[in-house]
Amino acid sequence: MSLTNRIRKASQQSKIFRYKTYKKIGCVGHRKSVDRIIMSLMIVLLIVGAFFIIKRDTSTVDSLNCSPDCPIEPVINEEAQEIVHSDLGDETVIEEENPELSINDLEDRVRKQTAKIKTLSLNKNESFASFLARANLAKPNQTGVLETLGALIDVKSLKKGTTVIFFFDKKNDSFLGLSVSLSHEEYIAVIKNENGEFSASFQEGAPETKNKRVVGKIERTFSGSAQKYGVPKRVVDQILNALGSEINLRNGVRKGDKFEIIYSQKITPGGLEIDSQNQALYVGIKMGSKEYHRYLYTDKSGTPAFYNPFGQRGQRTLEKRPVKAVPRLSSPFGWRVHPVLMYRIFHSGVDLACPRGTPVYAGGDGTIVHLGRKGAYGKYIKIKHAPGLETAYGHLNGYKAGLKAGSRVKQGDIIAYVGSTGRATGPHLHYEVWKNGKTTNPFQTHVISGKQLTGFELEQFQSFAESINPDFQKHLLGKFPPIPPMRPNNI
Ligand SMILES: [Zn+2]
Repeated sequence: MSLTNRIRKASQQSKIFRYKTYKKIGCVGHRKSVDRIIMSLMIVLLIVGAFFIIKRDTSTVDSLNCSPDCPIEPVINEEAQEIVHSDLGDETVIEEENPELSINDLEDRVRKQTAKIKTLSLNKNESFASFLARANLAKPNQTGVLETLGALIDVKSLKKGTTVIFFFDKKNDSFLGLSVSLSHEEYIAVIKNENGEFSASFQEGAPETKNKRVVGKIERTFSGSAQKYGVPKRVVDQILNALGSEINLRNGVRKGDKFEIIYSQKITPGGLEIDSQNQALYVGIKMGSKEYHRYLYTDKSGTPAFYNPFGQRGQRTLEKRPVKAVPRLSSPFGWRVHPVLMYRIFHSGVDLACPRGTPVYAGGDGTIVHLGRKGAYGKYIKIKHAPGLETAYGHLNGYKAGLKAGSRVKQGDIIAYVGSTGRATGPHLHYEVWKNGKTTNPFQTHVISGKQLTGFELEQFQSFAESINPDFQKHLLGKFPPIPPMRPNNI
Protein backbone atom coordinates (compact mmCIF):
# COMPACT_ATOMS: atom_id res chain seq x y z
CA MET A 1 0.00 0.00 0.00
CA SER A 2 1.36 3.38 -1.08
CA LEU A 3 1.75 6.38 1.31
CA THR A 4 -1.03 8.40 -0.39
CA ASN A 5 -3.44 5.47 -0.02
CA ARG A 6 -2.56 5.24 3.69
CA ILE A 7 -3.22 8.97 4.24
CA ARG A 8 -6.49 8.77 2.32
CA LYS A 9 -7.60 5.81 4.47
CA ALA A 10 -6.65 7.58 7.74
CA SER A 11 -8.54 10.71 6.73
CA GLN A 12 -11.62 8.61 5.82
CA GLN A 13 -11.44 6.87 9.19
CA SER A 14 -11.14 10.19 11.06
CA LYS A 15 -14.15 11.55 9.07
CA ILE A 16 -16.17 8.47 10.10
CA PHE A 17 -14.98 8.90 13.77
CA ARG A 18 -15.99 12.61 13.66
CA TYR A 19 -19.38 11.78 12.19
CA LYS A 20 -20.02 9.09 14.82
CA THR A 21 -18.97 11.44 17.69
CA TYR A 22 -21.17 14.32 16.48
CA LYS A 23 -24.09 11.90 16.10
CA LYS A 24 -23.55 10.67 19.69
CA ILE A 25 -23.68 14.21 21.19
CA GLY A 26 -26.63 15.07 18.87
CA CYS A 27 -25.24 17.92 16.73
CA VAL A 28 -24.73 16.29 13.33
CA GLY A 29 -26.57 19.23 11.69
CA HIS A 30 -24.06 21.84 13.07
CA ARG A 31 -20.87 19.92 12.17
CA LYS A 32 -19.23 22.92 10.42
CA SER A 33 -19.90 25.47 13.25
CA VAL A 34 -18.56 23.10 15.95
CA ASP A 35 -15.42 22.54 13.86
CA ARG A 36 -14.88 26.31 13.64
CA ILE A 37 -15.30 26.83 17.43
CA ILE A 38 -12.79 24.04 18.19
CA MET A 39 -10.28 25.52 15.73
CA SER A 40 -10.56 29.04 17.24
CA LEU A 41 -10.13 27.66 20.80
CA MET A 42 -6.96 25.83 19.76
CA ILE A 43 -5.51 29.02 18.14
CA VAL A 44 -6.22 31.06 21.34
CA LEU A 45 -4.52 28.38 23.45
CA LEU A 46 -1.45 28.43 21.19
CA ILE A 47 -1.12 32.26 21.40
CA VAL A 48 -1.42 32.31 25.24
CA GLY A 49 1.16 29.49 25.55
CA ALA A 50 3.65 31.30 23.31
CA PHE A 51 3.19 34.54 25.33
CA PHE A 52 4.08 32.82 28.64
CA ILE A 53 7.20 31.20 27.22
CA ILE A 54 8.51 34.53 25.85
CA LYS A 55 7.79 36.37 29.15
CA ARG A 56 9.79 33.85 31.18
CA ASP A 57 12.80 34.15 28.90
CA THR A 58 12.96 37.96 28.94
CA SER A 59 12.82 38.18 32.80
CA THR A 60 15.78 35.77 33.15
CA VAL A 61 17.85 37.72 30.69
CA ASP A 62 16.94 41.01 32.34
CA SER A 63 18.07 40.12 35.89
CA LEU A 64 21.33 38.62 34.67
CA ASN A 65 22.61 41.06 32.10
CA CYS A 66 20.58 44.18 31.81
CA SER A 67 22.13 47.48 32.81
CA PRO A 68 19.91 50.16 34.42
CA ASP A 69 19.48 51.90 31.05
CA CYS A 70 18.57 48.74 29.21
CA PRO A 71 15.76 49.58 26.76
CA ILE A 72 13.83 46.44 27.70
CA GLU A 73 11.43 47.25 30.47
CA PRO A 74 12.29 44.95 33.43
CA VAL A 75 9.67 42.37 34.14
CA ILE A 76 9.15 41.87 37.83
CA ASN A 77 8.86 38.22 38.63
CA GLU A 78 10.04 37.24 42.12
CA GLU A 79 9.86 33.53 41.47
CA ALA A 80 12.19 33.85 38.51
CA GLN A 81 14.69 36.02 40.41
CA GLU A 82 14.88 33.57 43.28
CA ILE A 83 15.77 30.76 40.91
CA VAL A 84 18.54 32.86 39.39
CA HIS A 85 20.05 33.68 42.82
CA SER A 86 20.19 30.10 43.97
CA ASP A 87 21.60 29.12 40.58
CA LEU A 88 24.49 31.54 41.14
CA GLY A 89 25.04 30.35 44.73
CA ASP A 90 24.16 33.76 46.15
CA GLU A 91 22.62 34.17 49.55
CA THR A 92 19.57 36.29 49.95
CA VAL A 93 20.72 39.59 51.46
CA ILE A 94 18.89 40.43 54.67
CA GLU A 95 19.28 43.89 56.07
CA GLU A 96 20.93 43.67 59.52
CA GLU A 97 18.79 44.94 62.34
CA ASN A 98 21.42 44.48 65.05
CA PRO A 99 24.84 45.80 64.11
CA GLU A 100 27.60 43.39 65.12
CA LEU A 101 28.77 43.78 68.73
CA SER A 102 32.41 43.71 69.74
CA ILE A 103 34.32 43.22 72.97
CA ASN A 104 34.88 47.00 73.01
CA ASP A 105 31.12 47.52 73.19
CA LEU A 106 30.94 45.12 76.13
CA GLU A 107 33.85 46.89 77.87
CA ASP A 108 32.04 50.19 77.33
CA ARG A 109 29.01 48.71 79.02
CA VAL A 110 31.19 47.72 82.00
CA ARG A 111 32.45 51.32 82.23
CA LYS A 112 28.86 52.56 82.05
CA GLN A 113 27.98 50.05 84.78
CA THR A 114 25.38 48.20 82.71
CA ALA A 115 27.55 45.10 82.48
CA LYS A 116 29.94 43.33 84.84
CA ILE A 117 32.90 41.04 84.35
CA LYS A 118 34.12 37.87 85.98
CA THR A 119 37.67 36.65 85.36
CA LEU A 120 38.56 32.98 85.74
CA SER A 121 41.58 30.89 84.85
CA LEU A 122 41.47 27.39 83.47
CA ASN A 123 42.52 24.79 86.05
CA LYS A 124 44.83 21.86 85.46
CA ASN A 125 43.02 18.93 83.79
CA GLU A 126 39.80 20.94 83.58
CA SER A 127 37.77 20.54 80.40
CA PHE A 128 36.57 23.74 78.80
CA ALA A 129 32.97 22.55 79.21
CA SER A 130 33.30 22.13 82.98
CA PHE A 131 35.20 25.43 83.11
CA LEU A 132 32.17 27.14 81.52
CA ALA A 133 29.93 25.41 84.04
CA ARG A 134 32.18 26.70 86.84
CA ALA A 135 31.64 30.21 85.44
CA ASN A 136 27.89 29.63 85.96
CA LEU A 137 27.00 29.65 82.27
CA ALA A 138 23.62 28.11 81.49
CA LYS A 139 23.64 24.96 79.31
CA PRO A 140 22.54 26.70 76.05
CA ASN A 141 25.28 29.33 76.52
CA GLN A 142 27.89 26.60 77.17
CA THR A 143 26.85 24.89 73.93
CA GLY A 144 26.86 28.16 71.98
CA VAL A 145 30.34 29.10 73.22
CA LEU A 146 31.78 25.62 72.64
CA GLU A 147 30.41 25.47 69.09
CA THR A 148 31.57 28.92 67.97
CA LEU A 149 34.92 28.76 69.75
CA GLY A 150 35.44 25.18 68.58
CA ALA A 151 35.07 26.37 64.98
CA LEU A 152 38.19 28.56 65.44
CA ILE A 153 40.44 26.55 67.74
CA ASP A 154 40.66 23.17 69.41
CA VAL A 155 39.47 24.03 72.93
CA LYS A 156 41.44 21.04 74.26
CA SER A 157 44.62 22.92 73.31
CA LEU A 158 43.89 25.70 75.85
CA LYS A 159 46.49 25.48 78.62
CA LYS A 160 46.09 25.58 82.38
CA GLY A 161 46.04 29.19 83.57
CA THR A 162 44.40 30.54 80.39
CA THR A 163 42.56 33.68 81.44
CA VAL A 164 38.96 34.13 80.35
CA ILE A 165 36.96 37.30 80.98
CA PHE A 166 33.20 36.70 81.09
CA PHE A 167 30.75 39.55 80.50
CA PHE A 168 27.30 39.51 82.09
CA ASP A 169 24.41 41.94 82.07
CA LYS A 170 24.40 43.77 85.39
CA LYS A 171 20.61 43.76 85.70
CA ASN A 172 19.55 40.23 84.84
CA ASP A 173 22.91 38.37 84.93
CA SER A 174 22.43 37.19 81.35
CA PHE A 175 25.58 36.11 79.51
CA LEU A 176 26.86 38.63 76.93
CA GLY A 177 30.19 37.26 75.78
CA LEU A 178 33.73 36.34 76.74
CA SER A 179 37.32 36.80 75.71
CA VAL A 180 39.96 34.07 75.83
CA SER A 181 43.61 35.18 76.02
CA LEU A 182 45.70 33.07 73.67
CA SER A 183 49.09 34.77 73.82
CA HIS A 184 50.63 38.18 74.28
CA GLU A 185 49.40 39.14 70.83
CA GLU A 186 45.91 37.82 70.42
CA TYR A 187 42.71 36.68 72.00
CA ILE A 188 39.40 35.29 70.83
CA ALA A 189 36.17 37.17 71.44
CA VAL A 190 32.90 35.26 71.62
CA ILE A 191 29.84 37.51 71.51
CA LYS A 192 26.20 36.62 72.02
CA ASN A 193 23.89 39.06 70.25
CA GLU A 194 20.35 40.11 71.21
CA ASN A 195 18.89 37.30 69.12
CA GLY A 196 20.88 34.77 71.13
CA GLU A 197 23.25 34.03 68.23
CA PHE A 198 26.94 33.45 68.94
CA SER A 199 29.87 34.70 66.89
CA ALA A 200 33.60 34.27 67.51
CA SER A 201 36.60 36.09 66.05
CA PHE A 202 40.34 36.48 66.55
CA GLN A 203 41.36 39.88 67.97
CA GLU A 204 44.75 41.51 68.44
CA GLY A 205 46.14 42.29 71.89
CA ALA A 206 46.10 40.76 75.36
CA PRO A 207 45.57 41.96 78.93
CA GLU A 208 48.56 43.96 80.10
CA THR A 209 49.92 44.03 83.65
CA LYS A 210 50.88 47.44 85.00
CA ASN A 211 52.17 48.42 88.40
CA LYS A 212 50.58 51.39 90.12
CA ARG A 213 52.16 53.35 92.98
CA VAL A 214 50.03 55.26 95.46
CA VAL A 215 51.48 57.38 98.29
CA GLY A 216 49.53 59.23 100.91
CA LYS A 217 48.94 60.30 104.48
CA ILE A 218 46.64 58.68 106.95
CA GLU A 219 43.66 60.70 108.11
CA ARG A 220 41.83 58.30 110.37
CA THR A 221 42.18 54.64 109.39
CA PHE A 222 44.66 52.94 107.09
CA SER A 223 41.90 51.23 105.11
CA GLY A 224 39.77 54.38 104.62
CA SER A 225 42.75 56.60 103.75
CA ALA A 226 44.24 54.16 101.23
CA GLN A 227 40.89 53.82 99.46
CA LYS A 228 40.49 57.61 99.44
CA TYR A 229 43.76 57.80 97.52
CA GLY A 230 42.36 55.33 94.99
CA VAL A 231 43.76 52.00 96.19
CA PRO A 232 41.14 49.32 95.36
CA LYS A 233 39.44 47.75 98.36
CA ARG A 234 40.64 44.33 97.23
CA VAL A 235 44.27 45.45 97.52
CA VAL A 236 43.65 47.03 100.94
CA ASP A 237 42.07 43.76 102.12
CA GLN A 238 45.04 41.76 100.82
CA ILE A 239 47.38 43.97 102.86
CA LEU A 240 45.26 43.76 106.01
CA ASN A 241 44.97 39.97 105.69
CA ALA A 242 48.66 39.44 105.01
CA LEU A 243 50.15 41.94 107.44
CA GLY A 244 47.35 42.61 109.93
CA SER A 245 48.68 40.22 112.54
CA GLU A 246 52.27 41.46 112.15
CA ILE A 247 51.75 45.22 111.89
CA ASN A 248 48.96 46.86 113.86
CA LEU A 249 47.39 48.53 110.84
CA ARG A 250 43.93 48.67 112.35
CA ASN A 251 44.59 50.43 115.64
CA GLY A 252 48.25 51.45 115.52
CA VAL A 253 48.03 54.22 112.93
CA ARG A 254 47.74 57.93 113.77
CA LYS A 255 46.74 60.93 111.72
CA GLY A 256 49.70 62.09 109.65
CA ASP A 257 51.31 58.63 109.37
CA LYS A 258 52.49 57.90 105.85
CA PHE A 259 51.91 54.97 103.55
CA GLU A 260 53.06 53.83 100.13
CA ILE A 261 51.41 51.03 98.20
CA ILE A 262 52.43 49.45 94.90
CA TYR A 263 50.00 47.05 93.30
CA SER A 264 49.68 45.38 89.93
CA GLN A 265 46.61 45.86 87.82
CA LYS A 266 45.59 43.97 84.71
CA ILE A 267 44.24 46.03 81.85
CA THR A 268 42.47 44.64 78.79
CA PRO A 269 43.52 45.79 75.28
CA GLY A 270 40.42 48.01 75.40
CA GLY A 271 41.74 49.69 78.57
CA LEU A 272 39.37 48.06 81.05
CA GLU A 273 40.83 47.36 84.49
CA ILE A 274 40.17 43.80 85.64
CA ASP A 275 39.59 44.49 89.33
CA SER A 276 39.67 40.87 90.39
CA GLN A 277 43.31 40.59 89.25
CA ASN A 278 44.66 43.46 91.35
CA GLN A 279 47.53 42.33 93.57
CA ALA A 280 49.37 44.20 96.31
CA LEU A 281 53.14 44.00 95.68
CA TYR A 282 54.68 46.42 98.14
CA VAL A 283 53.51 48.16 101.30
CA GLY A 284 55.43 50.84 103.14
CA ILE A 285 54.10 52.31 106.39
CA LYS A 286 55.61 54.97 108.56
CA MET A 287 53.88 54.86 111.94
CA GLY A 288 55.37 57.59 114.13
CA SER A 289 59.07 56.75 114.28
CA LYS A 290 58.60 53.13 113.14
CA GLU A 291 58.91 52.10 109.52
CA TYR A 292 57.77 48.93 107.78
CA HIS A 293 58.56 47.86 104.23
CA ARG A 294 57.07 44.63 102.93
CA TYR A 295 57.42 43.05 99.49
CA LEU A 296 55.29 40.25 98.12
CA TYR A 297 57.49 37.39 96.98
CA THR A 298 56.74 33.80 95.99
CA ASP A 299 59.33 31.45 97.42
CA LYS A 300 60.76 28.23 95.98
CA SER A 301 57.82 26.18 97.28
CA GLY A 302 55.37 28.47 95.49
CA THR A 303 54.03 30.18 98.62
CA PRO A 304 53.49 33.93 98.19
CA ALA A 305 54.16 36.01 101.30
CA PHE A 306 55.34 39.48 102.31
CA TYR A 307 59.03 39.84 103.27
CA ASN A 308 61.00 42.78 104.64
CA PRO A 309 63.93 44.12 102.54
CA PHE A 310 66.29 41.69 104.32
CA GLY A 311 64.25 38.67 103.15
CA GLN A 312 62.65 38.02 106.52
CA ARG A 313 59.06 37.00 106.80
CA GLY A 314 57.36 38.26 109.92
CA GLN A 315 56.04 35.95 112.61
CA ARG A 316 52.35 35.31 112.57
CA THR A 317 49.95 34.03 115.15
CA LEU A 318 47.08 31.62 114.63
CA GLU A 319 43.53 32.98 114.76
CA LYS A 320 41.86 32.27 118.09
CA ARG A 321 38.29 32.45 116.78
CA PRO A 322 38.36 31.65 113.03
CA VAL A 323 34.70 32.42 112.28
CA LYS A 324 33.07 35.39 110.60
CA ALA A 325 30.88 36.21 113.58
CA VAL A 326 31.26 37.05 117.24
CA PRO A 327 30.95 33.49 118.55
CA ARG A 328 29.72 32.40 121.95
CA LEU A 329 32.21 30.10 123.66
CA SER A 330 29.87 27.19 124.35
CA SER A 331 32.56 24.85 125.62
CA PRO A 332 36.18 25.64 126.58
CA PHE A 333 39.29 23.50 126.12
CA GLY A 334 39.90 20.88 128.84
CA TRP A 335 37.93 18.46 131.04
CA ARG A 336 34.11 18.70 131.02
CA VAL A 337 30.95 16.62 131.12
CA HIS A 338 30.10 15.90 127.52
CA PRO A 339 26.58 17.19 126.64
CA VAL A 340 25.70 14.14 124.53
CA LEU A 341 27.65 11.33 126.19
CA MET A 342 26.95 12.66 129.76
CA TYR A 343 30.28 11.68 131.28
CA ARG A 344 33.56 13.46 131.98
CA ILE A 345 35.62 13.74 128.89
CA PHE A 346 38.60 15.78 127.78
CA HIS A 347 37.53 18.46 125.33
CA SER A 348 40.26 18.64 122.76
CA GLY A 349 39.32 22.05 121.35
CA VAL A 350 37.00 24.98 121.84
CA ASP A 351 33.35 25.09 120.77
CA LEU A 352 32.39 28.37 119.14
CA ALA A 353 28.60 28.56 118.83
CA CYS A 354 27.30 30.60 115.92
CA PRO A 355 24.50 30.34 113.36
CA ARG A 356 24.55 27.52 110.84
CA GLY A 357 26.26 28.67 107.61
CA THR A 358 28.61 31.19 109.30
CA PRO A 359 31.85 31.24 107.27
CA VAL A 360 34.86 29.52 108.86
CA TYR A 361 38.33 30.94 108.17
CA ALA A 362 41.70 29.29 107.92
CA GLY A 363 43.41 30.00 111.27
CA GLY A 364 46.70 30.60 109.47
CA ASP A 365 48.48 30.14 106.15
CA GLY A 366 48.99 26.51 105.29
CA THR A 367 48.01 23.42 103.34
CA ILE A 368 44.86 21.36 103.84
CA VAL A 369 45.91 17.86 104.91
CA HIS A 370 42.42 16.40 105.51
CA LEU A 371 39.04 17.37 104.08
CA GLY A 372 36.12 14.99 104.61
CA ARG A 373 34.00 13.22 107.22
CA LYS A 374 35.81 12.01 110.33
CA GLY A 375 33.71 10.10 112.90
CA ALA A 376 32.22 12.24 115.67
CA TYR A 377 33.79 15.36 114.13
CA GLY A 378 31.34 15.10 111.21
CA LYS A 379 32.53 17.14 108.24
CA TYR A 380 36.10 18.05 109.09
CA ILE A 381 39.14 19.98 107.82
CA LYS A 382 42.73 19.87 109.07
CA ILE A 383 45.35 22.41 107.97
CA LYS A 384 49.12 22.14 108.40
CA HIS A 385 50.73 25.54 109.00
CA ALA A 386 54.31 24.61 109.82
CA PRO A 387 56.14 21.45 110.86
CA GLY A 388 54.37 20.36 114.06
CA LEU A 389 51.63 22.99 113.93
CA GLU A 390 48.12 22.20 112.68
CA THR A 391 44.55 23.41 113.16
CA ALA A 392 41.35 21.35 112.82
CA TYR A 393 37.72 22.32 112.23
CA GLY A 394 34.79 20.00 113.06
CA HIS A 395 30.95 19.71 112.74
CA LEU A 396 31.09 21.72 109.50
CA ASN A 397 27.97 22.18 107.43
CA GLY A 398 29.95 22.14 104.19
CA TYR A 399 33.23 23.08 102.60
CA LYS A 400 34.12 26.04 100.45
CA ALA A 401 33.79 24.93 96.81
CA GLY A 402 37.01 23.96 95.09
CA LEU A 403 38.99 23.04 98.20
CA LYS A 404 40.50 19.59 98.66
CA ALA A 405 43.34 17.91 100.50
CA GLY A 406 46.51 19.56 99.21
CA SER A 407 44.92 22.99 98.62
CA ARG A 408 46.94 25.96 99.89
CA VAL A 409 45.05 28.45 102.03
CA LYS A 410 45.92 31.82 103.52
CA GLN A 411 45.03 33.09 106.94
CA GLY A 412 41.55 34.58 106.72
CA ASP A 413 40.48 32.60 103.62
CA ILE A 414 36.99 31.10 103.94
CA ILE A 415 37.36 27.32 104.03
CA ALA A 416 33.98 26.04 105.28
CA TYR A 417 30.67 26.86 106.98
CA VAL A 418 29.45 26.22 110.54
CA GLY A 419 27.09 23.26 110.99
CA SER A 420 26.28 20.43 113.36
CA THR A 421 27.43 17.32 111.49
CA GLY A 422 28.83 14.44 113.55
CA ARG A 423 28.22 14.32 117.32
CA ALA A 424 26.89 17.84 118.03
CA THR A 425 23.82 19.21 119.81
CA GLY A 426 23.60 22.39 117.76
CA PRO A 427 25.51 24.43 115.18
CA HIS A 428 29.00 25.33 116.38
CA LEU A 429 32.59 25.19 115.24
CA HIS A 430 34.80 22.73 117.09
CA TYR A 431 38.25 24.28 116.70
CA GLU A 432 41.49 22.50 117.61
CA VAL A 433 45.15 23.46 117.55
CA TRP A 434 47.64 20.59 117.26
CA LYS A 435 51.21 21.04 118.42
CA ASN A 436 53.64 18.21 117.77
CA GLY A 437 50.79 15.69 117.49
CA LYS A 438 48.88 16.80 120.64
CA THR A 439 45.90 19.11 120.98
CA THR A 440 46.53 22.33 122.84
CA ASN A 441 44.41 25.29 123.97
CA PRO A 442 43.51 27.39 120.88
CA PHE A 443 43.01 30.45 123.07
CA GLN A 444 46.71 30.62 123.85
CA THR A 445 48.92 32.49 121.40
CA HIS A 446 50.42 30.13 118.81
CA VAL A 447 53.18 31.54 116.68
CA ILE A 448 53.87 30.40 113.14
CA SER A 449 57.59 31.03 113.02
CA GLY A 450 59.05 33.51 110.58
CA LYS A 451 61.23 32.62 107.66
CA GLN A 452 64.53 33.95 106.38
CA LEU A 453 65.40 33.79 102.69
CA THR A 454 69.05 32.89 102.20
CA GLY A 455 71.68 32.52 99.48
CA PHE A 456 70.54 32.65 95.91
CA GLU A 457 66.88 32.92 96.89
CA LEU A 458 67.66 36.06 98.94
CA GLU A 459 69.46 37.59 95.94
CA GLN A 460 66.53 36.73 93.71
CA PHE A 461 64.10 38.29 96.16
CA GLN A 462 66.12 41.50 96.46
CA SER A 463 66.50 42.02 92.73
CA PHE A 464 62.79 41.32 92.33
CA ALA A 465 61.98 43.86 95.07
CA GLU A 466 64.17 46.45 93.37
CA SER A 467 62.36 45.88 90.09
CA ILE A 468 59.06 46.63 91.82
CA ASN A 469 60.22 49.67 93.77
CA PRO A 470 63.21 51.81 92.74
CA ASP A 471 63.42 53.03 96.36
CA PHE A 472 64.37 49.53 97.51
CA GLN A 473 67.97 50.48 98.36
CA LYS A 474 66.69 53.24 100.65
CA HIS A 475 64.49 50.70 102.40
CA LEU A 476 67.57 48.59 103.02
CA LEU A 477 69.08 51.62 104.77
CA GLY A 478 65.89 52.07 106.75
CA LYS A 479 64.86 55.30 105.07
CA PHE A 480 61.31 56.08 104.13
CA PRO A 481 61.23 58.07 100.88
CA PRO A 482 59.63 61.52 101.03
CA ILE A 483 55.94 61.68 100.22
CA PRO A 484 55.22 63.95 97.26
CA PRO A 485 52.37 66.46 97.70
CA MET A 486 48.98 64.96 96.98
CA ARG A 487 47.72 65.67 93.51
CA PRO A 488 44.04 66.52 93.04
CA ASN A 489 43.44 63.56 90.71
CA ASN A 490 44.61 61.21 93.44
CA ILE A 491 41.68 62.08 95.69
ZN1 LIG B 1 33.87 20.52 120.60
